[in-house]
Amino acid sequence: MNISIIGAGQMGAGIAQVLAQKNHSVILIDQNSEVLKNALAVVANSCDRLIKKEKISTKDKDKILSLITCVKDLNHAKDSDFVIEAVSENTELKLKIFKELDKICNPKTILCSNTSSISITKIAGQTNRPDKVMGMHFMNPVPVMKLVEGIKALQTSNETFLKVKNLAESLDKVFIESSKDMPGFIINRILMPMINEAIYAFHEGVASVKDIDLGMKLGTNQPMGPLALADFIGLDTCLSIMKVLNKEFGGNKYSPCPLLVKYVEAGWLGKKTGKGFYSY
Ligand code: NAD
Repeated sequence: MNISIIGAGQMGAGIAQVLAQKNHSVILIDQNSEVLKNALAVVANSCDRLIKKEKISTKDKDKILSLITCVKDLNHAKDSDFVIEAVSENTELKLKIFKELDKICNPKTILCSNTSSISITKIAGQTNRPDKVMGMHFMNPVPVMKLVEGIKALQTSNETFLKVKNLAESLDKVFIESSKDMPGFIINRILMPMINEAIYAFHEGVASVKDIDLGMKLGTNQPMGPLALADFIGLDTCLSIMKVLNKEFGGNKYSPCPLLVKYVEAGWLGKKTGKGFYSY
């Protein structure tokens, strides 16, 4: 199939790789040429790790890279069977992109969003094909993580749902359904308040970054502590998700920790900028 990915950051590059690994033609679109260049290098490095583990050959790597075309212009998405949007977690930006995609793409194209928290129903409402819009939430890093969370908008048809589910499963992912399009869906509704609380614990001097992470790793059997995970996700993305939860659910339960806000203001976004709760 021809599949376009909008946004070539951490998630877009990973999604492009898993699709190309299954022989799909991928058009990877980002407004930033540096990001596009970096995305191909990220895919190449990830393929090298798979070659070392003898999971793919060097020939496979060449094929995977040859199947990914990097471009800046959204119009290249026009003949795609699927589009998967993975731009920054910003509601206005996503609404604008879906409006544009709806104008550009063939009416049959299914439009998915990899959003972590934003209403799929609202996104679908920007288009004249709301029945063909759905949430397709991959986990980071995409080539490693087995899960895809599917989110139906109020308007999504069963046909679209099954097509997205089939696509996820054809990528060897396990598909779960968030039955309601509620803020944060399943994963981030549960994960983000935990990460936010870990940041509060550090902020209030309960323990060091190292001990909070070690405590949660060894005490609750998580593979990675919550502060390391936050760095890995991107602190800007964590803050955006907390803001969506806070706005949509109301009350104090989801207020972003002031320290998270400060880190983002400082440009300390985690692994992607080289500094967050840890240095990289
Ligand atoms: P990122 O910051 O690494 O990448 C976002 C990309 O979007 C950037 O490369 C940016 O240049 C691009 N972009 C911004 N505006 C654009 C536009 N108008 N046109 C084209 N490209 C544009 O972010 P990410 O971590 O890859 O997250 C992307 C999406 O995936 C977000 O919605 C996020 O919530 C979601 N997500 C993230 C994770 C994670 O762990 N980071 C996990 C699951 C889902």
